[in-house]
Amino acid sequence: MRAQVLTAARWPLVAVELPAPRPGPGQVLIAVGACAVCRTDLHIIDGELADPKLPLVPGHEIIGTVVEKGEAAERFALGERVGVPWLGWTCGVCDDCRDERENLCDRARFTGYQIDGGYAELTVADERYCFAIDQRYGDVEAAPLMCAGLIGYRTLRMAGDAECLGIYGFGAAAHIVAQVARHQGRRVFAFTRSGDMAAQNFAHSLGAEWAGDSTAQPPEPLDAALIFAPVGSLVPAALAATRKGGTVVCGGIHMSDIPSFPYRILWEERVLRSVANLTRRDAEEFLALAPEAGVRTETVTYPLARANEALADLRSGALQGAAVLVPQT
Ligand SMILES: [Zn+2]
Ligand SMILES: [Zn+2]
Repeated sequence: MRAQVLTAARWPLVAVELPAPRPGPGQVLIAVGACAVCRTDLHIIDGELADPKLPLVPGHEIIGTVVEKGEAAERFALGERVGVPWLGWTCGVCDDCRDERENLCDRARFTGYQIDGGYAELTVADERYCFAIDQRYGDVEAAPLMCAGLIGYRTLRMAGDAECLGIYGFGAAAHIVAQVARHQGRRVFAFTRSGDMAAQNFAHSLGAEWAGDSTAQPPEPLDAALIFAPVGSLVPAALAATRKGGTVVCGGIHMSDIPSFPYRILWEERVLRSVANLTRRDAEEFLALAPEAGVRTETVTYPLARANEALADLRSGALQGAAVLVPQT
């Protein structure tokens, strides 16, 4: 099969021909229809996340069709369409796993990081961490739901019932979360890079009532802020824009250092927290909610062979929506 492979951190991916993987017990072999490109992939390729499997097939927003089943794999039928997210395996027996915090399992393994992922024609996944995909979505359209959507949704949940919601960094996750938030009757305030009018117009088109620079103060204090850009200086900016008792949630897996800030912007019971990974419950809830809420995804497709170009476009910040690799082109 054709695949794009990371051989060492800080090197471009290389196109290789690999033997077709075989599904082990409890696993399914999936013909990849589409795999979205996540900022986490950039963090892995840039060496900001330690010790990936090497060589590695990246990609953890996979949509595809089950073409072979390993021994005792019975959740899905041959030909059924499934999605594969970042969470690829958990131990099931530790305190975190048993207490509905499998996202924090110390022994968890992640797709496209410790397990080969979806920048390939075929991939193998543990069927317990695969999900059925609503027929209303095509493969390309569904792919960004698997991480930008899922982890975006978990991030939104951590904001509680905040009505005035700030979103910092208006990329793949934000464009999905904004639609869910509007569906829930929340008000959305979008913060972008300075002067990025294209992103601000994009945010308006998805229901944001205000869009401005990340350094600007919103027209009224936020009840909660979600930060999707990997930029530590947004933390004090978001705290300063959030009302007393409000929450600032960092939704990314990696961020540049957070600069020091005066205690008064955290004072008055503001909460600062992060979100790590996802649970299967998040996936089930979100994948049921997305079609009901009418969530659409904006995508830019690339043939698998042009994975490096998709990564470069994501890095440049020029993309509106999500980059998606399509192997069958
Ligand atoms: Zn991701
Ligand atoms: Zn565990």
